[in-house]
Amino acid sequence: MKAIVATEDHKAKVVDKELRPLEYGEALLDMECCGVCHTDLHVKNADFGDVSGVVLGHEGIGVVKEVGPGVTSLKVGDRASVAWFFEGCGHCEYCISGRETLCRQVKNAGYTADGGMAQECIVTADYAVKVPEGLGSAEASSITCAGVTTYKALKESQVRAGQWLVLFGLGGLGNLALQYAKNVFNMKVVAVDINPGQLDFAEQFGADICLNPETDDVAKIVQEKTGGAHGAVVTAVNKAAFDSAVNAVRAGGTVVAVGLPVDTMDLSIPRLVLDGIRVVGSLVGTREDLAEAFQFGAEGKVVPQVHMRPMEDINDIFDEMEKGQIRGRMVIDLKG
Ligand SMILES: [Zn+2]
Ligand SMILES: [Zn+2]
Repeated sequence: MKAIVATEDHKAKVVDKELRPLEYGEALLDMECCGVCHTDLHVKNADFGDVSGVVLGHEGIGVVKEVGPGVTSLKVGDRASVAWFFEGCGHCEYCISGRETLCRQVKNAGYTADGGMAQECIVTADYAVKVPEGLGSAEASSITCAGVTTYKALKESQVRAGQWLVLFGLGGLGNLALQYAKNVFNMKVVAVDINPGQLDFAEQFGADICLNPETDDVAKIVQEKTGGAHGAVVTAVNKAAFDSAVNAVRAGGTVVAVGLPVDTMDLSIPRLVLDGIRVVGSLVGTREDLAEAFQFGAEGKVVPQVHMRPMEDINDIFDEMEKGQIRGRMVIDLKG
């Protein structure tokens, strides 16, 4: 079968690969598609260490072709995910308290386990989340990482229906965050991006206020118009957005960090203490979060913008990603 692997010279390559037999608790997926995430770019560039030879991809959707001994959670014919949270240990303090993505023994698809950019993929059955009927595989692939990441971040913000959320960054993650915020959580949303095209998109998708930090003093305007937001979710990958978020929330507000600039943020300690601001990091989502995020997709409340591409396009897609040319989500078609 064909698979896209990371190479030693920091490229991606389509290779022929033989799969081993299934072990206890595993299932074999006949892969349909796999989205390309910014994290794949980091992995293939060895930004998190050299993992050359690993099959890339953690936004995979496939159909169960075979199950190994002991599998009860999946059956042949089910559609299921290959997600960044590929497997936890199942018994540590994080795994048993609803914070399984923080498991110290975690395996991540397309990084420490072979991922979904292949015609076939072996998954740990209990960790592959079933895709509900009514949700297309390409759309589901996008929800497997980008969707669940933003859905979880919105939960972490603790902003309730009718309250104000500031969303920094309206790209691949942000546009899904906006749809979950408006259509699922019924939040009031201030959308912030330096790209006017993304702001037009945000307006179409129901953002209540759109601001461009190149011309607008975001924190000041948010404070004036909303009295300070109840929460902020930062998907942007620049430090300025994080600093601005802290100043845009009201007392008791929560800033959720999702974007991953390699940087430190400015935090005024008096502001943090006297105004009771919470700053939290949020990483993908649990299996339960993903099941919920899929269901809202199946109900049509969240519609990812996807573009199908052949496996051979993978290096072109990474180039486009590095140049910031990608709108919506590029999804590798593994049936082609
Ligand atoms: Zn991802
Ligand atoms: Zn664990």
